[in-house]
Amino acid sequence: MARAWNFCPGPATLPEEVLSRVQSDLLDWQGKGLSVMEMSHRSEEFLGIATKAERDLRQLIGIPENYKILFLQGGAMGENAFIPLNLLGDHTTADYINTGHWSTKSLEEAKKYCDVNVAASSESSGFTHVPAQSEWQLSKDPAYVHICANETISGVEYPFTPDTGKVPLVADMSSNILSRPFDINRFGLVYAGAQKNFGPSGVTLIIVREDLLGKARRECPTVFNYTIQVEHEWAFNTPPTFPIYIAGLVFERLLALGGVTEVEKRNIAKAQKLYAEIDRTGFYTNKIRVEDRSRMNVTFYLPNEKLDDMFAAEAKGKGLINLKGHKVAGGIRASIYNAMSMAGVDALIAFMRDFEKRYG
Ligand code: PMP
Repeated sequence: MARAWNFCPGPATLPEEVLSRVQSDLLDWQGKGLSVMEMSHRSEEFLGIATKAERDLRQLIGIPENYKILFLQGGAMGENAFIPLNLLGDHTTADYINTGHWSTKSLEEAKKYCDVNVAASSESSGFTHVPAQSEWQLSKDPAYVHICANETISGVEYPFTPDTGKVPLVADMSSNILSRPFDINRFGLVYAGAQKNFGPSGVTLIIVREDLLGKARRECPTVFNYTIQVEHEWAFNTPPTFPIYIAGLVFERLLALGGVTEVEKRNIAKAQKLYAEIDRTGFYTNKIRVEDRSRMNVTFYLPNEKLDDMFAAEAKGKGLINLKGHKVAGGIRASIYNAMSMAGVDALIAFMRDFEKRYG
């Protein structure tokens, strides 16, 4: 059976080479007579897989030794609680920039643990842009400043890295990590669920600067205490071994493709082509400020909701699946993460032209 072009926002399409490799390794990983799923997380084999994944990720992003890498469970939503519980220390306040659905979720959860100062918000404009840093009103002594680097639902992405001086910058990069280079040294902590750009669901990546460890609140669940997890190196509790193995295969593939700089070129080319098609006539519209348009989640609307629904349904019939926008946003959303090829974008554009010809 032919594979569909899957525009799902997550869990998202994975590279076919990776899936084939998983398939061939499934019953017997490298002649060891068992699947990675069946390995002890303390075995030499699994530790080899996990440390290679970490090494490759360090190389891909350029992560220096003073940043620790964790692969935990709980998803990005879990981190909305674990981050304040780990980073607040003696602080009573954390600052949040609200650019949409996922930032709102983060700051609402943080309110359980501290005073939240919403230092800037684009809510009044319908979350269609990233507030300029000159407009941010940071509090006096926040534990950190939290941003969502890419709002997956609306398709708003930071085109810049904020400068928060000595205050640690914390970023939810669930939907754009590894899609473009970034300087980790500008961040205190970066986190991302795997299921968009680097693996199946079930594993959350946390990259945390060493000096932010050791501040966890007493009530922080022990398995989500970053310091304890760092100290125990993969062995405090059972890590999500199979998702880590698949993430490792994705990292290996990204390195083989030439790393994140090369991947970014492809992502720019895909996004530019798709936005150019949206802008070509008035039939499709994107509401996001041009500079802040996401390269990963491209959202657009047809002239009315009925056409939005027909578009998604007809596309599905042609093997272009999961294009319906999130229920809070409506319209259409094409998620074009690293693993979506230009051929997939071309197939979508061909469908858009055909649809416009018939209904435009
Ligand atoms: N943050 C962002 C930017 C997301 O896109 C998502 C999931 N779509 C989440 C957080 C929540 O992730 P999870 O469901 O893995 O907790």
